[in-house]
Amino acid sequence: MSAEKPKKVTPMMQQWHEIRAQLADDTLLMFRLGDFYEIFLQDAERGAQLLGITLTHRHGMPMAGIPFHASETYIQKLLDQGVKVAIVDQVETPQPGKLVKRALTRIITPGTRLADTQIDAQRNHFLLALSLEKQQLHAAWLDLTTGEFVVASDARPENLFAAFEGIDPREIIVPENASSNWRNNPDAAKFNELFTSLCDGRAVTKIPDYHFDEVAGAQSVMETLGVLNLEGFGIDRDHSALGAAGALVHYSTETLCAKPENLRKLSEYSSKKTLLLDPATLRNLEIFKSAANTRHGSLLSAMDGSVTAPGARLLERWLCAPELNLIEVHRRQDCVAEFVAGPGLSTELQKHLKGIRDIERILGRLQNRMRNPRELGGVRDTLAALPAISGTLLEFPDTPVAAIAERIHDFEPLSELLNRGLADELPGKIDDGGTIRDGFDEELDHIRSLTRDSQQWLTEFELAEQARTGIKNLRIRFNGAFGYFIEVTKSNVALVPDDYVRKQTMKNAERYTTSVLKEREREILSAEEKSLGCEEKLFNALIKSILEHANALKETAEALAEIDVLIGWGALAREWDYCKPQLDHSDQLRIDQGRHPVVEQMLRAERLGLAGAHAFVPNDTSLSSSGVDADTPQIALITGPNMAGKSTYIRQIALIVLMAQTGAWVPAKSCQIGLVDRIFSRVGASDELARGNSTFMVEMNETANILNNATPRSLVILDEIGRGTSTYDGLSIAWAVIEHLHPKDDDGPRTLFATHYHELTQLAKTQARLENYSVAVKEWNDEIIFVRQVIKGAADRSYGIQVARLAGLPTTVIDRAKTILERLEADDSSHNLLRKRMKKAQSGANTDREDDQLALF
Ligand code: ADP
Ligand code: MG
Repeated sequence: MSAEKPKKVTPMMQQWHEIRAQLADDTLLMFRLGDFYEIFLQDAERGAQLLGITLTHRHGMPMAGIPFHASETYIQKLLDQGVKVAIVDQVETPQPGKLVKRALTRIITPGTRLADTQIDAQRNHFLLALSLEKQQLHAAWLDLTTGEFVVASDARPENLFAAFEGIDPREIIVPENASSNWRNNPDAAKFNELFTSLCDGRAVTKIPDYHFDEVAGAQSVMETLGVLNLEGFGIDRDHSALGAAGALVHYSTETLCAKPENLRKLSEYSSKKTLLLDPATLRNLEIFKSAANTRHGSLLSAMDGSVTAPGARLLERWLCAPELNLIEVHRRQDCVAEFVAGPGLSTELQKHLKGIRDIERILGRLQNRMRNPRELGGVRDTLAALPAISGTLLEFPDTPVAAIAERIHDFEPLSELLNRGLADELPGKIDDGGTIRDGFDEELDHIRSLTRDSQQWLTEFELAEQARTGIKNLRIRFNGAFGYFIEVTKSNVALVPDDYVRKQTMKNAERYTTSVLKEREREILSAEEKSLGCEEKLFNALIKSILEHANALKETAEALAEIDVLIGWGALAREWDYCKPQLDHSDQLRIDQGRHPVVEQMLRAERLGLAGAHAFVPNDTSLSSSGVDADTPQIALITGPNMAGKSTYIRQIALIVLMAQTGAWVPAKSCQIGLVDRIFSRVGASDELARGNSTFMVEMNETANILNNATPRSLVILDEIGRGTSTYDGLSIAWAVIEHLHPKDDDGPRTLFATHYHELTQLAKTQARLENYSVAVKEWNDEIIFVRQVIKGAADRSYGIQVARLAGLPTTVIDRAKTILERLEADDSSHNLLRKRMKKAQSGANTDREDDQLALF
């Protein structure tokens, strides 16, 4: 709406206009006015609607207000709707008759929030900047709450998008003119598709292109990190992603209204150093979220035994970037082994870990000017828990656990200072008073004793005045507007002495003061002010002492998070009987009695409530990229009726590999894995209904991606590929895909292919490194029983009718289906129809018309 501006703009509104002019149109300005944040003019209508609050008008000017004390909730509500909020505060103590100074103190955006009420404790909150230039995709991501800062460049955009899906950015920064530049890039089409899907549901912010300048970026990144070069981080100063990193620094500085103070480290993400999982694979394997889009039911949740929020976040980061480095994998595995072997110590450590607070994020806030006494209490409580943790860790001498323990610093003097300085119970704001402990500072103690004396004096004064006037219910009271006063009820007004000066008339009482009380009032108020001033000074000094240890605290927090994750894995390994997988550079993949980590846990949870439900049935796997013999093929083709357990089986193998390469133990009896460089997992279109109408196209796109990118080191999991189209099309595609994955004279990716196309089992005759497997079922009285066992050899029948019966199809339909099936099977020409067609297709002959089959009916 076009706001009718009042003709004469008041000085306050002039202030508002000046600040508003600096902000982007889509930002909502909240303007501090006494106890309220007011939203004016063009922002008011939008704000009122987004927040569901009343829109009012004053002198024709639209406005809406929210009480200051409840502002957190409202800001949160705006952020959740993807709206950016600019906060303008009063930056001096208001004085009557004078316009109070105000300034923009912070712009809160979905990717730059810091307050603990606005962020998810268990997850990182990344801000991501992207630019596509010189035939490469450049990216940088930053979590302002923890200081995590990463750069990456890759000639193949899809490699980085694999990482983005995992880091799940809250906000994406792109150059303003990106779309026109990007259109000319040879990768534009592919990039745009990935980019569009990444942006779905996320806040995207465009900033001028020059903020992505590489040289300026490198400079501002170094300044912010406080270093003269980036070599210490192993990053070249002309790393081409420094433009994107610079854009992040710029954007953070703009929104924080100051340089971010908690950035100390920059690291590089490289797709060459990481087991890559593309977005489709992450979704299909339900790594971070279940198919129902919840954390529960995901691999992340099944692997999370951490007891602290930083631990949960570290687990997520590790799962985003599984290792290719055996040394690191072994280090983590060996730590888990220590915790598996020492359950008593692990439990004790976990108990201590529960007492620590989120130091990374507390530091992030303290360093970025969000300070309240309780955060300091968090540091104090954490430091108090450290000696016990370090002490317990001494019980693991000469192990990789001890090496982590060495990264936990000793903060004895700081801990002692905070214990002495901070009160046991801390207020939410420094202005509330009571942050600093008695006995810590002489000056403060002295001021406080004056205040305490005054309280004593007031009590005595009240008694004395009661005696002097004979008014028994005379009271000394205080309020913010009138200060201290003597209150006398109307019935006693006649007894009031001459030296009382009337201050205020109430309905039932009169309020007075005297010269003595006035004098004392001045002393008391100034003492309180002095006391708060003194506390604030001491508070800031304590913060300074803490921040002097910021790097050591950060390192300690990182070590604690690692210990938390690894103890959690140890506990899981014990509880679920996991084994330590053997990782090496071979081309093997052997799993002895492997299980699906998530389904197994779900089954047990169900079993607790449901007698008769089954436990998870383990299965073996053996594959190698060279497919040396029939017992270790390169491709395992798995047939079996619907519901037999094919999908579960092939997914469990991918999950076990992924777990192993993050350094965790795995649900198996024993396991050997030659390092995997990428995992690809695809599901046939009709199994993935949730994803819109062109699912077959998507399926084929994704399959193309596999065929183009899989290496002999990759693991490929294909589930019912080809299902999304007509039988013959689908079958032919599946056939050709398998042939492609099975190069004639070369190694191929270790592959598992689940299918209900029986015809594909014929491939074993021509493809030397392909073996048939099936998930066994037993027949009993014309019914089938799922035994969930993967056995060698193709399934003999599909048992579709029996499965349909299990699903509750009416008996009449089942009987009719049986008759039709019998007729089909009796008819020789139809029995071998598909096989004949496939042979013809291979020999290049024309295929029959589809009517052949229809004619049967
Ligand atoms: P398919 O892909 O062959 O149709 P699924 O893999 O979807 O079958 O499995 C069907 C159901 O069987 C799953 O929901 C799962 O609960 C159960 N299941 C699968 N494998 C096992 C197993 N090894 N042990 C126990 N239950 C299993
Ligand atoms: Mg399936």
